[in-house]
Amino acid sequence: MKALLFSESGDLASQLLTLLRDKFEINAYILSKDDISEYGASNVFQIETSFPYADNLSSFISEEFKKWNYHVILMVSSPLTRDIAGMLSEILKTEAITEIMKLETGENNKFYTERFFFGGKTIIREESDARIFTFLAGLTDPQKVNTKSNVQKIRIDLKSRVSLVNEIEKPKSSVNLEKADIIVSAGRGIGKKEGLSVIQQLADVLHGEVGGSRPVCLDYHWLSEERQVGLSGKRVKPKIYIAAGISGQVQHIAGMRGSKTVIAINKDKNAPIFNECDYGIVGDLYVVIPKLIEKLKK
Ligand SMILES: Cc1cc2nc3c(=O)[nH]c(=O)nc-3n(C[C@H](O)[C@H](O)[C@H](O)COP(=O)(O)OP(=O)(O)OC[C@H]3O[C@@H](n4cnc5c(N)ncnc54)[C@H](O)[C@@H]3O)c2cc1C
Repeated sequence: MKALLFSESGDLASQLLTLLRDKFEINAYILSKDDISEYGASNVFQIETSFPYADNLSSFISEEFKKWNYHVILMVSSPLTRDIAGMLSEILKTEAITEIMKLETGENNKFYTERFFFGGKTIIREESDARIFTFLAGLTDPQKVNTKSNVQKIRIDLKSRVSLVNEIEKPKSSVNLEKADIIVSAGRGIGKKEGLSVIQQLADVLHGEVGGSRPVCLDYHWLSEERQVGLSGKRVKPKIYIAAGISGQVQHIAGMRGSKTVIAINKDKNAPIFNECDYGIVGDLYVVIPKLIEKLKK
């Protein structure tokens, strides 16, 4: 079965290739110059365009899909590919299933997919005729194969209906939470921005990164959005995840479920986070964390 893989980055493309190269014969179209020739694609097309927008990219992808008789379109979910998936669904008049974790081929041209449901509380398995799939990022680590793909550059001159009126630089994030081995996350329970210093100190002693729940990152802006863990934030899988002052709502859990060992610190013994952790400490984080730091320093 022939698949068209589209990605704006080499890292995401190589993740998806590792996950799906045994199921499909994949041609990868990437919007970057990253070298992904050793991840099992038959062909790699490095796209060059002055208009990297969803509308003209969707037109291009749909033309390639029809021209080369691809069976499916595979993408890793991102703001750009979510737009593209919707547009492709309309152009190609076929269903798109987004944010999936698993894809299997069934009988009679059907596909089986699995994705989180009810805000991450459960996983549903669906059967469909869909041909467009976006996958969650970080489902696997890229692994190389012994063969090399044929790599070509491809120029897209299709104009976009989007015109750039202004460019505002986003502060560059120095954090890569998805790759961190140890994360100490702060929840609303820290009570004030200054509370982050105790979280940061614990992260420093452990050589880890600081993350946060949605209120801390998005509502109060105590931490940057890049540090938000959860359904609408980053999906992380560290060896150790420490949740301090986090209640453990499903939307937060959806982002840290892949953690190996979870330690929760919460002053409410009935907080749902205690159902999700390996070790739970009932207590005030401002009392517990300094004690932990003291012990760890020894
Ligand atoms: C569509 C959607 C997407 C969402 N996406 C995300 C997401 O990506 N990430 C996310 O985190 N949330 C997300 N949410 C929000 C989510 O539902 C919760 O509201 C949020 O996770 C709660 O954050 P919290 O645990 O920090 O705060 P709270 O639920 O207010 O919990 C604070 C906790 O701190 C404890 N506490 C208070 N003081 C102390 C202290 N001194 N010491 C120790 N413990 C203390 C309290 O007992 C309480 O359990 C989303 C919601 C929706 C609807």
